[in-house]
Formats: sequence, structure tokens, C-alpha cells
Amino acid sequence: MAAILDQFLDQNLTELKEQGLYNEIDPVQGANGPIIQVNGQSLINLSSNNYLGLATNDELKKIAQTTIERYGVGAGAVRTINGTLDLHVKLEEKLAEFKGTEAAISYQSGFNCNMAAISAVMDKNDAILSDQLNHASIIDGCRLSKAKIIPFLHSDMEDLRKKAKEAKESGQYNKIMVITDGVFSMDGDIAKLPEIVEIAKEFDLITYVDDAHGSGVTGKGKGTVKHFGLEKEIDFQIGTLSKAIGVVGGYVAGKQKLIDWLKVRSRPFLFSTALPPGDVAAITAAIQMLIDSTELHDKLWENGDYLKAGLKKLGFDIGASETPITPCIIGDEKLTQTFSKRLFEEGVYAKSIVFPTVPKGTGRVRNMPTAAHTKEMLDEAIATYEKVGKELGVIS
Ligand SMILES: *Cc1c(COP(=O)(O)O)cnc(C)c1O
Repeated sequence: MAAILDQFLDQNLTELKEQGLYNEIDPVQGANGPIIQVNGQSLINLSSNNYLGLATNDELKKIAQTTIERYGVGAGAVRTINGTLDLHVKLEEKLAEFKGTEAAISYQSGFNCNMAAISAVMDKNDAILSDQLNHASIIDGCRLSKAKIIPFLHSDMEDLRKKAKEAKESGQYNKIMVITDGVFSMDGDIAKLPEIVEIAKEFDLITYVDDAHGSGVTGKGKGTVKHFGLEKEIDFQIGTLSKAIGVVGGYVAGKQKLIDWLKVRSRPFLFSTALPPGDVAAITAAIQMLIDSTELHDKLWENGDYLKAGLKKLGFDIGASETPITPCIIGDEKLTQTFSKRLFEEGVYAKSIVFPTVPKGTGRVRNMPTAAHTKEMLDEAIATYEKVGKELGVIS
């Protein structure tokens, strides 16, 4: 190893470890369902994004298996060479139907979508108004475009309007985009899309919503844009296929000509191999399930409401989530980490999230209930919260 790299790694790793910021990753032995095995210990899993339990759905597993028999394990090429299988075309038609748009394009991940879509349209002569709590992939996608990034205060519509007006009236920019998460994953709050659309109309803004935590969850499962009935107003609807959909991948849904443009100008589409066929078939079937029935969605919300009510009754601060995401706000960073560690020892897997991911003094243990949890599992989790909460003096 080059001496300069060796020195860099030693110094920085040591620093992180000393500050308690070095994240040790727990390997999960087996499927990522409502109960997981970590280090041979069985735990109630409140940490996945597998909202509807589809990651381990038996029907989807079978579809992936039979598709692999017929198509093999890999797509074999990037989409534009010969990696576009009939399965990809079918998936994209299904995505457009699901999102209520003319067309859609799939990518290898949600992260990749934001690398792809923003810089295909925005450049150094443009500006992007970005919610300050937007996901890391949005931030990186904005940076990649070289547009001027103008952050606005989280879901603060007065601040957005002021900054949109300034940007528009400056005459400095060719195009201006407003970009937001649909559901914010740390607090579970929903973006104020009706107001954002109104401001966008007033100042001629391009609208871009990344609904990674919304699809399958809000809008009876169809997502946050549908929740507000704004399918015709939002230019870019971004989603992931790895959270509620349970597999892997991402997509952009919108007007046909936008999708046509992304197919010739978005770099992860042009230069990275297509999603594998087994995954594509499983995803298409998962989306069909969400179109056909709200059963899993309803179960998810029932479980979310049940967990929230249980924790609230015990006296925990569960914030102001509008979705099944259930933060349990502890405050102090060290105490939050101890809390999560004690939950683990008592059989509940719920991760602590602290500064700098969330503001200082708002450390929390974040709970992600899913449709796959049973009432018994949630009761056990709530009882464990009570025990640990009293032991650590978080509740009385
Ligand atoms: C999780 C997430 C992503 C990344 O999605 P992957 O498919 O896991 O790459 C992108 N954007 C937002 C808002 C997310 O929450």
C-alpha cells in the first residue's frame, strides 16, 4: 500500500473509533424478515425498509426462480447494447401504470436514479432548490449536475417561495428545479407537495419528487404524489424498488418525452448493466400486487399505528411521524446508543440514529414496523421498550 494511503487510513480510522463514530456492521444470518438472526441471537427486526414484507414473499421467490431458469442470472449487457429484455419493457409499462404517468424507466438502484436523472436535465447554468433534509443520493445527484444548489429550510414553504422568487428574478438561471423527498425517513413526515406545486407554477419550476419511502406506504400504496392527486403536476417521480417493493432497483416515471430523453442521456442507463431478469420479474409481480390489493398496505399501517400507540402510552416521545416510520426520540447521543444496545441484548433490533444524521440532541431509536410483523412481535417489542426505558430512566 502507498505510504500516503496507509497514513491516511490509519489516522482517519483511529479518529472515527476514538469519537465512537465507527459503525460496526452486523451480518444478518438468513432472510431479512420480521425476525432476524444476528450472531446466533434471534431478534425482532424493527430496522428494515422491507415495509410490506415482500423481500421474503413466497410467490415472488417462485417467480424469480422460474425466471432465472428461463433467462439466466444476469441481463448480460447495458440496456442500449442488448441488455434490454422483454421483461424490462414489461416492468416499465407496469411502473407507468402504477405511478399514473405516460412512461417510466428503470435503473439499478434508487441511488442511481438520482445520479442519472438530475444531471440529464440540469447543468451549470441552472439552479436547484433542495430541501435541507433531502437524501444523500439527491444531494450527490445535484452536485453531479453542476447546477447552483440552493437549500431551503426543511418543508418551510415560506423559505422555498422566497428563494424561488429570488432565483427567478435574478435572471441568472436557464432552468430552476425544486427537489424533495416524498417521505422523510428520519421523522416520517410527508413533503408538502400541494404547496410545492403551487410555488412551482408561480415561478416556473421543474418538480422532482423522490418517493423512496412513500411508494407502497402512502397514497394507499401508490405513493405520495398519488396521495395528493398530483400525478399530472410532478415532472419527475423517482422511486426505489428495494424498500416496499422488496427487491432492488429504482425508476423515474413521467412524460414519454422525459423518459425518451433519459434513455439517450442518463449515464447509469447507458453505461451500467441492466437489472437481472429474476429481479425484474419479481418486481413486476410485486407492483401488480400493489395495484390489485391494499391488503399489505393496510396491514403495514395497522402495525405502525399499533406500535406508535404502545410506545406513546408508555410515555415515549415518538415525534410527529405521518407514516409507519416510528422514531423514539431519546435526545442525548450516548444514551440513545446505549438504549439501542440494551434493546439488542433484550431481543429487539432497532438502530440508533444520532448527529450528524439528525440534529444534535435529537438522537433517536428508529423503528420500522412492517406488514410482516405479528401483534405478538409488536407486543414483545413494546414490553422490551418499557423495560429498557425504565431501566435507563427515559420513562418513569
Ligand atoms: C433509500 C433511498 C434511496 C436509495 O435507494 P436504493 O434503491 O436503496 O439505492 C434514494 N432516495 C431516497 C429518498 C431514499 O430514501
